[in-house]
Amino acid sequence: MTTLKTHAESSRTALGYPPEWVAGLVQRIGEEVPFGPSLELTSVDVERLLKCVGLWKSERLLAITTPSPVEGRFTRLTRSLVRRWFASLRVGVGIRPFEFVEWSLNDYDEMPTDVVEWVGPQSREQRMETVGEIAAIIARVAQQLGYPQLPSGVVLSPEMSVRIDDLTLTARDVDLIIGAGETRDGIYWPGAVLVGFVHDTPTAEDLDRLAYSSFIYSLRYGGPPARVVSYGLVSGKSLSMDVERDWVEMAVGGILAVLPKLVELMNGADGVLTPGDHCEGCPDRGNCPFTLPDSMRDW
Ligand code: SF4
Repeated sequence: MTTLKTHAESSRTALGYPPEWVAGLVQRIGEEVPFGPSLELTSVDVERLLKCVGLWKSERLLAITTPSPVEGRFTRLTRSLVRRWFASLRVGVGIRPFEFVEWSLNDYDEMPTDVVEWVGPQSREQRMETVGEIAAIIARVAQQLGYPQLPSGVVLSPEMSVRIDDLTLTARDVDLIIGAGETRDGIYWPGAVLVGFVHDTPTAEDLDRLAYSSFIYSLRYGGPPARVVSYGLVSGKSLSMDVERDWVEMAVGGILAVLPKLVELMNGADGVLTPGDHCEGCPDRGNCPFTLPDSMRDW
């Protein structure tokens, strides 16, 4: 099996990026950003808006009342603990995963309310089961990266944001960055690997979401990463691809396609519903004219 470490060791590409490439992409987006209130777009916003504005609106509404409908609480908790465990390594605290998770799950101040409501009432046996499952996942990620000899340059990814006029683009899909690119004679040479954790077996859609992160990475560093990896926390499987120019530009195309929809919504329009396979997971499917039986439609 290809491990995360293997991905990290072969991350150089032969293609360099001049600064005009990034400037051209920023200009294309800047020309379409509406004047007015500040907007923030994440990869999930773009993905949902491309599918259907009704799906985007109903998931945003649900996110206000129910934390993270997209990502389950086990994944959120595990993802946050893997990140915190790596952070503790960086400050030289080599806590074994089991002790680390056991200790962390007693620290309710660091956990979102719904996770506290889940782990708080667990019996001792249930708690040990949760600790064991998450600790095993942390141990596997660390082992795949070659722990205790982690490849040099493994860093936790911060939340990456860039601003273009009144539009803020935010990437929350990247957990680890391995390696870095470099600029020589004004040309950026990719070298980093972006790793994003997902719940189970990664899909092509998970990988495509990283195109958006790669674009934001490009704006921050001067060019894209060399490779992206989507890693399934529960399955231990990963899917990866070398980053190509067209793929990053595809993410820009997605942003350009959703901006007019956002402008319409900001101007008070309801937006045009676009049904498809995505209706299956839409929180509003019980009220939507496209999914109601014919006898219940107004038309
Ligand atoms: S059910 Fe389908 S068409 Fe209706 S709002 Fe949801 S995604 Fe859009």
